[in-house]
Amino acid sequence: MKVLVINAGSSSLKYQLYNMTDESVLAKGLVERIGMDSSILTHKPAGREDVTEVSEILEHTTAIRKVIDILTDKENGVLSSVDEIQAVGHRVVHGGEAFKESALVDSASKAEIRRLFDLAPLHNPAAMMGIRAAESNMPGVPQVMVFDTAFHQTMPEKAYLYAIPRVLYKKYKVRRYGAHGTSHDYVSKAAAEYLDRPLEDMKIITCHVGNGGSVTAVQGGVSVDTSMGMTPLEGLMMGTRSGDLDPAIVPYVMNKEELSVSEVNSMLNKHSGLLAISGISSDMREITEGMEAGDANSTLAFEMYEYRLRKYIGSYAAAMNGVDVIVFTAGVGENSVVLRQKVCEQLTYLGVELDEALNAIRSGEPRRITTANSKVDVLVVPTNEELVIARDTHRIVLNSL
Ligand code: AMP
Repeated sequence: MKVLVINAGSSSLKYQLYNMTDESVLAKGLVERIGMDSSILTHKPAGREDVTEVSEILEHTTAIRKVIDILTDKENGVLSSVDEIQAVGHRVVHGGEAFKESALVDSASKAEIRRLFDLAPLHNPAAMMGIRAAESNMPGVPQVMVFDTAFHQTMPEKAYLYAIPRVLYKKYKVRRYGAHGTSHDYVSKAAAEYLDRPLEDMKIITCHVGNGGSVTAVQGGVSVDTSMGMTPLEGLMMGTRSGDLDPAIVPYVMNKEELSVSEVNSMLNKHSGLLAISGISSDMREITEGMEAGDANSTLAFEMYEYRLRKYIGSYAAAMNGVDVIVFTAGVGENSVVLRQKVCEQLTYLGVELDEALNAIRSGEPRRITTANSKVDVLVVPTNEELVIARDTHRIVLNSL
């Protein structure tokens, strides 16, 4: 079965086409600047040169048509006809409490997603645009939604409730949902596989640290706690997001600076984190360069980021009464040798013993970075959220036939 994976944002659309016979990627790409006058389609057919096209793409239906055109193009395509696409999988950020696992797209699941627009006003409407666009371009092809939140639906009440009046949960579903679930799910399973140990018996802390970031406590293969909350603002310090802060700061600053709700939202989501502290960039590569060049603000930004990540690891070891494996993944987790080193150097109380030579190796494969004596295995596992979406889509569509 060939499965097209779609990750639609408000002005962008990423795609990957999988051949599920061997889980190979036939092509992938990205449409950027949807709704603007010069939209860019970058198409990467496997083993061939990238292709870039600039045109006017005003909405998602046209974007998907362009993607289908290039996938079936005589010169740059990888399919002889659109009919070869037998299923479409969509990334959907928020599945609320309704979706504990991936689901077929039908009128009921679409209605539920619309009900969740309130909880993910930036992300879910974009996913819905992607779904509608795929439906209109590929009528009759089964589609599946895969949720960032679903993996965390196993969290117990004590982990997902906020200590605020319960009426707010009852009326508005104010609770913690988490995010990056497909990634935490994938890397925890990949870690167990790599170590050849049964997932059911393991306590794993997965650190998905990229531009956004979250840490999850995975016990017996299920998420028991995670650092993101009702929205992806809670938890770690991120590229441009504040992460945890005293909630009283919000009304205080709004009052002092006469900020509106949307202004304070923008401040915490887009103008905080590494960017705010370094004053230079939200990109960890630039922060690291700044630190190496002796820039005090970059150094402070790095230290805060690392310290907060390490505190979450400690709290999840406490939550699970121990930890067998710590996994680093995503852009920073997979690539920043120095971040992993600094974190691990302060985890000796857990029995972590870093092997600096192993930590310095770069490879696209799962690997251990601790010594044979280390009580806790620390791994680097490249994440693959698209593959999880393709696998879920394949399984659900096969089961529905
Ligand atoms: P992601 O959101 O998972 O794509 O991760 C993106 C982030 O990974 C970027 O903001 C970069 O700061 C970070 N990143 C990528 N490569 C490196 C690297 N070699 N060292 C440190 N950070 C990196």
